[in-house]
Amino acid sequence: MKRKIIGSILTLCMLISMPCTAFAADDAAVAQSLRESEPKEAAVLSGKSEMPKVQKPGEAENPRDPKQAGALENPEDPKQPGASENPEDPEQPGALENPEDPKQPEDPKDPEDPENPEEPDYTVVPKPTTSKASAKAIRISWDSSQDDCVDTYYVMRRGTKDNEGSGAWKTIAKVKSDKEAGGPKNSYTNKLGSSKTQQYEYKICTLSEDQTVDTREEVYAEETDLYAALGTNIKICIDPGHYESINNNYGWSGEDGKYPYSEGAFTLKIGKALKKELKEVYGIDSYMTRTTDRISLTYGGRTYVNGNLDQGNVSVRGRMAKKKDCDFFISLHTNSTSSSKKIWSQPKSVNKVYIFVNQKAHRSAQWMKTANAIGKSLTEYNQESGIQTTGFTKRTKNQAVLFTNLANDEPDGNGTVVYRMNSRGSDYYGVLRGSHEDGVPGILVEHAFHTTKAMRKLAVASSELYKSWAACDAYGIARGFGLADAW
Ligand SMILES: [Zn+2]
Repeated sequence: MKRKIIGSILTLCMLISMPCTAFAADDAAVAQSLRESEPKEAAVLSGKSEMPKVQKPGEAENPRDPKQAGALENPEDPKQPGASENPEDPEQPGALENPEDPKQPEDPKDPEDPENPEEPDYTVVPKPTTSKASAKAIRISWDSSQDDCVDTYYVMRRGTKDNEGSGAWKTIAKVKSDKEAGGPKNSYTNKLGSSKTQQYEYKICTLSEDQTVDTREEVYAEETDLYAALGTNIKICIDPGHYESINNNYGWSGEDGKYPYSEGAFTLKIGKALKKELKEVYGIDSYMTRTTDRISLTYGGRTYVNGNLDQGNVSVRGRMAKKKDCDFFISLHTNSTSSSKKIWSQPKSVNKVYIFVNQKAHRSAQWMKTANAIGKSLTEYNQESGIQTTGFTKRTKNQAVLFTNLANDEPDGNGTVVYRMNSRGSDYYGVLRGSHEDGVPGILVEHAFHTTKAMRKLAVASSELYKSWAACDAYGIARGFGLADAW
């Protein structure tokens, strides 16, 4: 079947969301339904990684720091103040996961010329999704809603440069359509020669059902390229720290209660933004240990929920990395300090970045490079945002700082890469121990100290902070895999 389309890319976006049979309807009906349909997700690659823009907070840090209720950071400490705090959600409704603003659809038909005979014939192409199938394979999938219009799908691949498609497209597979719209997704598994990090750009081209239109032809390239997607054989395990509203200042009075913040809620925002950033900018897949306020994981035949994964069995979070075939583990947190004389005691004004590495990562130049890249980019962002004044000291393989009670006791000292051991000679933090014992390199990122008012203020001001931190985290991960240059 041939179809009439208008040449505009925007129109193509909408046409693809329409069932094939819709195109047989009269133009007025089609135009109307097009106007009513939402454009599909933007098919344009987000392109090169850009470091986050800095949004300056409106005022300097208040030297009067908040009370320390619920602020302790030790995941193994049985006390979890704040867990039963006021459940009132502090999040700004408008600031959550705001998707890119889609362009407003234009009227695809020229009212002066509804039957434009110059319109080219065209067969729509689907946008594929990619995923790591194994260390040596990438799976490419696409929907089957156009199967009745398509004879053959061509899986096209090209190399990349700076996380963008580059060079000539090559057809790597032909997949016959079953000629019936709907049903299971179409897919193809691209077997790779080795398990080293590989990144490609993929797109699906089509041969029309009557075999007269082949969208591999150069004339269609500009438009079909818009439906390309990056893919890699890399998968990350993202662990948004804690759960629900753990570690919060809800219900606090006066200055301390300003800018309501919960670590458990904010790390989920960072995690979701990180997953999006990794896929869109670098083509890297990820698994998340939780995607809602709650966390529930099954490991070794047992299911653990919420508090059971924030204290004694926290290592299960790290175990998920191996279970889900991930190459790297990252646990997302914000730090806290306390005026008490306990182990986590530090000056209350302190605000700096700490990257805890597990033993597997500590012994690796590659993963120390990632830890340094995340720490440095977070620090520069925090400095420019006015929430942090100290710097960041890079550490080399096996040269991270052993975290002790006073390791970061100096308010003017730099943040850095640290490691922390327990009395049994294992990683102190359960999340890092779990990933390490399964042989997966892992880090725990303390993005800043939420016990500073300046950080909390920036956190609630907009979506800027968590998106920027996610961009820094993604950049560092990509750097470790050789997909980003030094910055
Ligand atoms: Zn935490």
